[in-house]
Amino acid sequence: MSAISRVSDIGIGIHYTPDGPIPYVTTFIDGAQRVGAEDLNMMIVTGIGIGSCGDSTTATQGAPKIGSNNKNVHRVGDMGTCPSGKYVSLTGSPKIGSK
Ligand SMILES: [Zn+2]
Repeated sequence: MSAISRVSDIGIGIHYTPDGPIPYVTTFIDGAQRVGAEDLNMMIVTGIGIGSCGDSTTATQGAPKIGSNNKNVHRVGDMGTCPSGKYVSLTGSPKIGSK
C-alpha cells in the first residue's frame, strides 16, 4: 500500500543549475476535481505543484491501475519534475492507499 498524495502534500527534489544542484520542495496545488481524500483533491499524473526553486512542477508517475478522471493517481514515492530536475513525492494520505 502506498499513500496517495493530495493537494497540499509535498515532494522533494533537486533542481540542477550550471552552478550545481539546488534542493527544492514542491507543494502540490492542482489535483483531480471530483475525487478527494480527507476532503483534499488527490494528485494525479499531470497535476501541478509550485517548487521552492521558482518553477512549477508536474507529476509524471502514478499508480497504473487506479485512476481518477482517467488519470493515474500520484502516490508517495512517485516521481515528478520541474524543468530542471526531478522530485519524489514525500507526503500523502495515511488512510487511503493503492496497491
Ligand atoms: Zn526547478
